[in-house]
Amino acid sequence: MQLYVIKGAHVFAPEDQGICDVLIGGEKILAVAPQLDVSISGAEVAVIDAAGARLIPGMVDPLAHITGGGGEGGFHTRTPQLNMSEAALAGVTTLVAGLGTDATTRSLPDLLAKAHALTHEGLSVYTYTGSYELPARTITGSVRDDIMLIDKCIGVGEVAIADHRGSQPDYRELAKVAAEARVGGMLSGKRGIAFIHVGGGRDQLNILQQVADHTDIPLSQFYPTHLNRSEALLAQGVELARQGMVLDVTASTTPELLAAGELSAAQSLKLALNMGLANDMLTFSSDANASLPEFNAAGELVGLKVGRIQAMHDSLCEAALDLQLDFETVVRAVSTTAARNLGLANKGSIAVGADADLVLLNQESLAVRDVWSRGRHLVTNGQALVTGVFES
Ligand code: ZN
Repeated sequence: MQLYVIKGAHVFAPEDQGICDVLIGGEKILAVAPQLDVSISGAEVAVIDAAGARLIPGMVDPLAHITGGGGEGGFHTRTPQLNMSEAALAGVTTLVAGLGTDATTRSLPDLLAKAHALTHEGLSVYTYTGSYELPARTITGSVRDDIMLIDKCIGVGEVAIADHRGSQPDYRELAKVAAEARVGGMLSGKRGIAFIHVGGGRDQLNILQQVADHTDIPLSQFYPTHLNRSEALLAQGVELARQGMVLDVTASTTPELLAAGELSAAQSLKLALNMGLANDMLTFSSDANASLPEFNAAGELVGLKVGRIQAMHDSLCEAALDLQLDFETVVRAVSTTAARNLGLANKGSIAVGADADLVLLNQESLAVRDVWSRGRHLVTNGQALVTGVFES
């Protein structure tokens, strides 16, 4: 078993632990202490000098389109798949994969196969069943059965609301699918989250409030994303978060979207905190390999770009360096809060017994220096040590 001791890093667990040594091996964090004695007889221990660097838990990305997505401009605009090393180089070690607009040419079996492939290559990858549309597409025939019987499946999503590309569900339909996910989760010891794509439509989050008002499904069952589309949408989210619903904002953006009023993920975090949101109620997702379509006022497609997983790290840097947000709060947004809200107990923290998912960042620039995922050293000095099977 290969052991590593990462010596002298400034550890954010996410709490600031000061300067510590961290011993990892066999996929787990074995010890965290200010001065570890690493002379373990019979074991091979690689010593990593991390003096002057910051160590954070591997980033947890609650939405990545690992098999690609989109296609809103026709078949030639279907976006490509995610490569393992792109995630590792960005410091993302855990991803939850979803379909999106297109569940006709994209399929859940394909998504599951790709999740297994990326897991084999070193990441930790989970899936949502369903897609934008309702009734939900599934593998087994039911959302509940998918969550109960497919190990990697931890919820349903991203179900689209307030979007012209969605199924225009009413609150009863939305409550039904959330209830299926909830019961599937309860019976299989998973979170059973209903991950919700919130479009740019006028209804914003009103349908979620209707579910809370008229049914027995609590708002904490939902995990809405893209709340950085506008300040008004974010403000409505912050109100609903008081009822226990964690919010997600999208790290991938474009200059055109920002010019049209979208907030960056980092700006959203700052604004939400100023609105009174607790520092463990908002997460960043990459929306990696999604298409980022731009529609004009008439609903016509006028531009198309692709989401990037590197946006998670870019957003971490913007939040910590440009906006000077408290670093523990930033670590929660890119890792800890998503792990908790997704029910991934071994993710999102640096603690004995947790999975050895670790990212070493340059103290000043916060550039990714080294990455371990389930104890495997995937990145060193910003270069990939391991690449995916078909990556050159
Ligand atoms: Zn979406």
